[in-house]
Amino acid sequence: MCSGRVDMEFVLRAFANGMDGVFIGGCRLNDCNYTTHGNYYALNMVLLCKRIMEHIGLNPERLRIAFMSSAEGTAFAEVMRQFGDEVRQLGPLGKGEGIDLGQLKSRLAEVRKLIPYIKIVENEKLALRLADPADYDRLFTRDEIDELLSTVVSYYIDPDRCQACMICARRCPVEAIVGAKDQIHVIEQETCIKCGTCFDVCPTRFGAVAKIRGEPVPPPLPVRERMIVRGGAWRSG
Ligand code: SF4
Ligand code: SF4
Repeated sequence: MCSGRVDMEFVLRAFANGMDGVFIGGCRLNDCNYTTHGNYYALNMVLLCKRIMEHIGLNPERLRIAFMSSAEGTAFAEVMRQFGDEVRQLGPLGKGEGIDLGQLKSRLAEVRKLIPYIKIVENEKLALRLADPADYDRLFTRDEIDELLSTVVSYYIDPDRCQACMICARRCPVEAIVGAKDQIHVIEQETCIKCGTCFDVCPTRFGAVAKIRGEPVPPPLPVRERMIVRGGAWRSG
């Protein structure tokens, strides 16, 4: 596949499965046969992924991207030999970093759940094609990614405002919203990928979806209290 199709999830899943290093090979930059230049996307994804790896304590040198043509077999062999040597020097995953493997896997699991959110937030930068290679050093900073991952947004449906119009549940891409006709809707936080669609589509006259940052999400309304009785302006309890 085009290197632009290598998703951040594939990389982090490889580490979660215990791989000591991940290598991505792409066509030479500016040599793309199409107008898509997916190899730039791959480069940006790798740079972002490296900052995420640093955030969770993983050595970013375990991830490498290199660009070459399919005719450059010797160059490819040399790059792979070097990368293999470097990864061997880094040691086994986790051990090289001095982190317990179980702990590392749980950090990877947490951050993998946030991949859709990270991609939405960093969407514009991921699609950039920078002319000056020096600009890539500044594309994603450690501070920016630390801030992003420590102030993750959550979405919450205010039970006092929800009118059970069902629009958000129909539009949620991962079926994270539980609700039915005349039932106050509730977001399952474990399933939510924080895309923000429910926030955008909830009619402004209801304004029932709240964006929460840096605070715990209120517990979901108990199922027995979710029924709305029209006209009587009360909900069962
Ligand atoms: S933020 Fe996105 S994924 Fe989460 S509940 Fe809303 S629509 Fe669904
Ligand atoms: S779109 Fe808003 S009012 Fe309609 S069900 Fe969802 S949260 Fe409730």
